Amino acid sequence: MFENKKIFILGMARSGYEAAKVLAKHNNNITITDLKDQNIEHLKELKDLGVNFIKSDNPSDLLDETYDYLVKNPGIKIDHPTVQKAERLHIPVTNEVEVAYSFFPKNIKIIAVTGSNGKTTTTTMIYEILKISSLPVLLGGNIGYPVCSLVDIVKDNDILVLEISSHQLHDMKNFKANISIMTNLIPVHLDHFGTYEYYKQQKFKIFNNQTKDDIAILNKENIDIMSRENEIKSTKIYFSSKDKTNCYLNKDTIYFNNEKIIKTNEITVQGIHNYENAMCAIIVAKTLGVSNKIIKQFFKEFKGVEHRIEYVREINGVKYYNDSKATNTESTCIALSSFKNPTILLLGGLDRGHSFEPLLPFMQNVKYILAYGQTKNRIAEFAKENGFKVEQYDTLSECVKRSYNISTEGDVVLLSPACASWDQYESFEKRGEEFKKNVKEL
Ligand code: ADP
Repeated sequence: MFENKKIFILGMARSGYEAAKVLAKHNNNITITDLKDQNIEHLKELKDLGVNFIKSDNPSDLLDETYDYLVKNPGIKIDHPTVQKAERLHIPVTNEVEVAYSFFPKNIKIIAVTGSNGKTTTTTMIYEILKISSLPVLLGGNIGYPVCSLVDIVKDNDILVLEISSHQLHDMKNFKANISIMTNLIPVHLDHFGTYEYYKQQKFKIFNNQTKDDIAILNKENIDIMSRENEIKSTKIYFSSKDKTNCYLNKDTIYFNNEKIIKTNEITVQGIHNYENAMCAIIVAKTLGVSNKIIKQFFKEFKGVEHRIEYVREINGVKYYNDSKATNTESTCIALSSFKNPTILLLGGLDRGHSFEPLLPFMQNVKYILAYGQTKNRIAEFAKENGFKVEQYDTLSECVKRSYNISTEGDVVLLSPACASWDQYESFEKRGEEFKKNVKEL
């Protein structure tokens, strides 16, 4: 499919770079554009492969009918002028995942994870369990390793665990996974997709091309998934945090095919949402023959993906958690509902003018709020109005030190800021790293 063709790559970054390398090695004539300057070494490497990089904020002018494909970066808007022009010229629009897929050997197994929330956590759980089971497994996709970066290393019979976003699914046609997982569906990314209906349609492409020989893992409690399950041709395996089904949580135990697999107190990460992610991973692990012993060993050791309700340390009976990825109130609600302990909540960051009211129904265990950053005054107002003890500081480090002084045995100190980090940090990752450093220095 992608051999001896003329290909336009719209948007470089890591995925465009990896796609260009793979395509260049297959004798394609490639032009790649981006608005921004790119990594100089990557540009040199591409130049040596004969790839033509053009920095441009008006790439439509560069595209003409002589191109065979447009490979679009998933982050670029679906109605970008260059995409519209490609459609007018009948040039197929595709992406990096489809490029990689076309070069994979046919005798590999692909496990694809999508959903509105929990993709990275579920993908990581599956990859790590299979890895400690000594299965030949590779990790890729939206999790930070473009799928094209696997093309040169994948071998016959390998298992690929891929996190796939709605943005990637939008331009996918041929991709087929042997096991596809939909963790949940809620209305997000509507700025990108326009309507919830259209977003859901994109998400369901994770089951494209599957037959009865393939598996679809579905969240039985999600109405928006279940209402369209008829569209799915694969063999369905359900999970539920409420009712008996193929894999389910009953009181404090997870069952699969009515066999007790693990108790929730043997799982280090907490919260119903994490048990749901764990159930997806357990279904995959059991389907591939992993023993309960290995499943238990993994969940005891797995402390969560970095910055997502990540356990950091215990000091004097107080547990510290880093949930820096919680850049909105929805995520902070999930974090709060994951703990039954008295909680000291660290809130703050960029002020988008958003309300903190949605947190209220989840705050029954919050005993103290420490606010910092641009939103500290608004948070303090919100806390006082609702009868919470609150103190304001300029920085997160000051909040960490203060949390150490006011906490007592059995408490949880939770950084789940409900705000983006950009008032004081380059990214939520940097904010989480600083929090962990401060906690380790206590
Ligand atoms: P994604 O990759 O889909 O963004 P992550 O695994 O990175 O998801 O988790 C991001 C945040 O989403 C977590 O901090 C948590 O607040 C929430 N989350 C994780 N798993 C789930 C789930 N199964 N259901 C609902 N929310 C979840």
